[in-house]
Amino acid sequence: MKVKKYLVKDMQQAIAQIKKDMGSEALIISQRWVRGKGFWGFFTRRLEVTAALEEGSRASFSQELQKELAAPLQELPKIAWGEKEIKASNMVSEKVFGESAKEVKETKTSLPQAVLVKENNALNSGKLFKLWRQKLLNLDLSEALAEKLLKAISEEVFKKEELISTTLVNYLISSLEPLYREIQTGQVISFIGPTGVGKTTTLAKLAAQLALNHQKKVAILTIDTYRIGAVEQLQTYAEIIGVPLQVVMSPNELSEALAKYMDRDYILIDTTGRPFTKVDQIEELKLFLTKIKEPHDTFLVLSSNTKSRDLLQATGYFSPCGYNKLIFTKTDETLTLGSILNVVNKVKLPVMYITNGQNVPDDIIPMEAGSLARLILRGVDL
Ligand code: GDP
Repeated sequence: MKVKKYLVKDMQQAIAQIKKDMGSEALIISQRWVRGKGFWGFFTRRLEVTAALEEGSRASFSQELQKELAAPLQELPKIAWGEKEIKASNMVSEKVFGESAKEVKETKTSLPQAVLVKENNALNSGKLFKLWRQKLLNLDLSEALAEKLLKAISEEVFKKEELISTTLVNYLISSLEPLYREIQTGQVISFIGPTGVGKTTTLAKLAAQLALNHQKKVAILTIDTYRIGAVEQLQTYAEIIGVPLQVVMSPNELSEALAKYMDRDYILIDTTGRPFTKVDQIEELKLFLTKIKEPHDTFLVLSSNTKSRDLLQATGYFSPCGYNKLIFTKTDETLTLGSILNVVNKVKLPVMYITNGQNVPDDIIPMEAGSLARLILRGVDL
């Protein structure tokens, strides 16, 4: 695998350079804004884009194969995020692994030679299916989701192993895209989630990026009334970034603070991490959040190094608060990110950011369908 970093003005420039350098099969693995070196560098930003190309992929892909690579994608049904689409993917699965197997049996007596070839193909695709199922399970995707993804892929793809990973990535991208359509950002953004996942740090990263890189007027509120240490930490960040911070201790105080900072472009709200299972605490948090009348985003912040089961439990626990977007932190602390997809599949909400380190404000990456799909399936070939 060839991996190369590009420092560019914007994504358009990156894509042009990557295409020229590595060809159109290169995948963008990550992107982040970086500052220049030295004092003046602090004020100049460049986009650092990392691209990768599988070794030999350009040489081994004949033009014909490349055409095939593009062809099945248009036929793929959307992944089963919704009820209707589940049916569509089931239909495909029957076709791929039901009817075709039946077809082989029925023609066995009349066309022995052709049948032999077909049986071999079916055997191979069966083997490849199993192999890829295991690869996806190794990424921590749930069994149901791994099978759903693979069954949605055309049978043809399983006859040529080199097509599988690209088809899978592209299929996942097209399936995630609907979640990212018509996304709007509210003026008020609150961060909820279990204790210690990185809510405060993530809020600080976003506040710094908005205030320093985008010259937005930002205010920070915190209803973190229990952990004095966390407020001090946030206070330090607020001072460095140069934005006001106010601690609110009751829903009415929150209303007053919101009214006070209504002239700000963004009001970011930190909340106390709630231990699981304490229903009364989630009700208390809900009382705070219902005070927000303005266009409002609630990010559910989860750590990607948490077990899938606990992540799914957290999505249920925080659901009374009505979150509408997701953030996954600590992607630098885990090798597998399939659990992110398990969560997305359950709550059908977009992951807006991932964070990949403790550095404020740099270790945060905005996500869209393409970057998320590539990130989750990274290393699937290992
Ligand atoms: P909160 O309780 O949810 O507000 O979590 P904090 O923001 O206080 O973070 C808890 C710990 O996680 C701190 O030590 C952070 O530096 C660390 N942390 C936050 N985000 C990341 C991340 O993306 N990667 C790593 N490795 N650590 C992180």
